[in-house]
Amino acid sequence: MALSILYWLNFVSGTKKLHQKSEVAVKSEHVLKFLYDPELRHVQGRVQASMRDRSYHINITLGDNYTVEDSICDCVNGQDKCHHKASLLLYGYKNVSKTDVRESWIKHPKSGPPKKTMTMDELFPPTPKLANYSHAMDSF
Ligand SMILES: [Zn+2]
Repeated sequence: MALSILYWLNFVSGTKKLHQKSEVAVKSEHVLKFLYDPELRHVQGRVQASMRDRSYHINITLGDNYTVEDSICDCVNGQDKCHHKASLLLYGYKNVSKTDVRESWIKHPKSGPPKKTMTMDELFPPTPKLANYSHAMDSF
């Protein structure tokens, strides 16, 4: 599930610098990490700085009508609009397939695997050595 281009367009609207810098960043593959959770409407990522050898972390919460409700980036302009945020929004539109990396994101406790899938062997290791080990862990 890709982000609508409208999120990016609204975000960079009227700011030619943001528009251009984010396009360059995406083309230069400065977006190092992109995670999108459609349920929470949350975008998280890492964008490489254009000059220096470092990267910034960005968190974006999407709002209604293709707007950005809340966003933060740890660059100097991170409280305001910066091209790192814009780059993530553009990346989310262009790279549809990579948005599926959500699976590798932090699992929410509620979506964890059901306990029923564990076998008896997993619950009670058959070898005495492992049994002793788990017993020691219990009393820890
Ligand atoms: Zn930034």
